[in-house]
Amino acid sequence: MKPSPIKNDAEMIRGVNYIKCGSLDCGWWYPEGHGCPDHNPWIKCRKKPIEVHYREANAGIETIHTLEGDMVAGYGHDYVMLGIDGEVYPIKKDIYERTYDTLE
Ligand SMILES: [Zn+2]
Repeated sequence: MKPSPIKNDAEMIRGVNYIKCGSLDCGWWYPEGHGCPDHNPWIKCRKKPIEVHYREANAGIETIHTLEGDMVAGYGHDYVMLGIDGEVYPIKKDIYERTYDTLE
């Protein structure tokens, strides 16, 4: 389908209003109320206040067996997180400070 700079171009097909994606190089038409499959919009959300646990990394370089394979945590630089399903993973301390509050 030929790209078009026209936004909100619409067409009714069998009772469903189809919207043409407003991005110049995109050919998608999608049902009104949905997003373009190639240009999905960012939607505001917030992490649920689910309690997880963390600890200091062990002295030296600690190998953490994560769901995505072995990773390392460095003492003084990383924490080790224990997630809601028992999974463990390293996290940089500055990322922890920006995304978690310590409860106890
Ligand atoms: Zn698009």
